[in-house]
Amino acid sequence: MNLKIFSVINSILLSVFLVQPLSASPSIMVKPEILYPGDVFLIKTVYPSNRLLRAELNGREFPFSSCGERCSYAIGAIDIETRPGTYKIKIYFKNGKNIIKTLRIRKKEFPVISLTLPEERVTLSPEDEARANKEEKLLRSIWQLRTERLWYGGFIRPLDNEISTGFGVKRLINGHKISIHKGIDIKAKEGEPVRAVNNGRVVLREELFFGGRTIVIDHGEGLFSVYMHLSDYNVKEGDMVSKHDLIGFAGSTGRSSGPHLHFGFKVKDISVNPESLFELRELP
Ligand SMILES: [Zn+2]
Repeated sequence: MNLKIFSVINSILLSVFLVQPLSASPSIMVKPEILYPGDVFLIKTVYPSNRLLRAELNGREFPFSSCGERCSYAIGAIDIETRPGTYKIKIYFKNGKNIIKTLRIRKKEFPVISLTLPEERVTLSPEDEARANKEEKLLRSIWQLRTERLWYGGFIRPLDNEISTGFGVKRLINGHKISIHKGIDIKAKEGEPVRAVNNGRVVLREELFFGGRTIVIDHGEGLFSVYMHLSDYNVKEGDMVSKHDLIGFAGSTGRSSGPHLHFGFKVKDISVNPESLFELRELP
């Protein structure tokens, strides 16, 4: 090809690409593409993290981290109470600009289970209530921790058994008390090994009123995994753990009607459906 023609074509091509305005869709990816209340999601962009401030959805902020030269990501979550509909994720840049990506959150019917329990198991004594409230406060303070990233790649299942009670199940107890299941119950035999779902640091190892023997792992960046009703522990507070490490044994301690593992996951203070976390395979 004639050099002159080549350079003309080249400059036309260049000008076409250079004058393209910032367009939201090709530069921002949200996974999964179909979202339900309670889901965790990943936002990935081609912009370097030092140009980005944060992503915002429903007034909640999710900061960006780097996953390479032209790669930034943020982990977000949709609260279970979020109504289905169209939402906007706003990505803020340090130069004051922002771009918007539209998200559709679909409707999900969470089952309702009616339970009849002895009334003394439903209405707590003042001492038990005080203890449960104190423990709730302790857990809430843990969800405020923001530490360096320790996790990498996808999250594994803590125990490879069937699920007995899914996330979001509403329990109507004695016709008057509603409790929403903000985790999953995994079937287990007494003493079955429970594994760390990713790298992290043990920030709680304590016997709680409702949760029984409980472990909380801080994975960094506001991500926490919670393991309840354990029969015994294999780690202590402050321990660093790796993905697949044996951290404890399934049991039925605390308010539990038989051996199982209650597993919960938090993105900041949002309880998310662990199933949506395990299925998120694009995590950097
Ligand atoms: Zn449970």
